[in-house]
Amino acid sequence: MQHFLLSAAARTLSLKKVFRMGEDAAYRTFCELRWPENDGEAICPRCGCVETYNITTRRKFKCVACHHQFSVTSGTIFASRKLSFTDLLAAIVIFVNGAKGVSALQVSRDLDVQYKTAFVLSHKLREAMALEDAAQTLEGEVELDGAYFGGYVKPANARENRRDRRLSVNRSGKRQVVVVGRERDGDMLTVVAKSEAQGGEVIAARIHHMATVHADEASHWDDLHAKFDTHRINHTLAYSDGYACTNQAESFFSRLRRMEVGTHHHIAGPYLAAYAGEAAWREDNRRVSNGGQAMMVGNAAMASKVSRRWAGYWQRAA
Ligand SMILES: [Zn+2]
Repeated sequence: MQHFLLSAAARTLSLKKVFRMGEDAAYRTFCELRWPENDGEAICPRCGCVETYNITTRRKFKCVACHHQFSVTSGTIFASRKLSFTDLLAAIVIFVNGAKGVSALQVSRDLDVQYKTAFVLSHKLREAMALEDAAQTLEGEVELDGAYFGGYVKPANARENRRDRRLSVNRSGKRQVVVVGRERDGDMLTVVAKSEAQGGEVIAARIHHMATVHADEASHWDDLHAKFDTHRINHTLAYSDGYACTNQAESFFSRLRRMEVGTHHHIAGPYLAAYAGEAAWREDNRRVSNGGQAMMVGNAAMASKVSRRWAGYWQRAA
């Protein structure tokens, strides 16, 4: 039998295909996502034994060596799943297909599940996306830039009453900055901090010392010169001098703004890092087919440990 992951069908994965494949094939897909090194056959998560009894009726396995009982989702981000495997796979497809992000409300409507189920699931998928960047270092030509989110004081309508958001008196304490480091034509890393300087330090620590760094004229980037070959661009004069520019970092921020305006309305606050990570993942993988993207997210989700933040989230909140 050809594995689903390797089949041409995985290249484009529509909702129609997911629902047509049915629960058994969806279940098989999750087995393949979890144990790709063993062709989708179970491996005991406790002792690593590849010999298992298959308790088919309950979709469980029992380890021959240590008698541990487990399921395909045991110990993963989907451990306490309430959804069928078909719905779970469909949720991943809906999620990766929304180039500007997908609201929990939309997932809840599309799958006909409770809002809170969709909300937690969407955040778990963002967590899986974030895993990919966890150990990444930036190399080559790296653009560094920051943008502020949240904490705005609503501007008055009349033009003469408009407030300058750059002045600290016109901001609430909730303002956060997203700093991005982006390899030119490559991957990126994001961090959320109180100031650009602070976020910049975190990203700089993950830039290879031989890299060339591009940043704007803001004085808090001055420290970069001591560490890297650094090029600066003065944005009041031009957006690029032909070499030094931060255009790719800025295109990331326009994607993040589009997600904010078009989909989530508010991304500032406790989940800003998750949304920024999601936008970075989408940008990094924009040339991967949607089926390929779904498999990447599914694979990361099955490789990830039980979510500390989201496991039992609603039980605690209740
Ligand atoms: Zn075992």
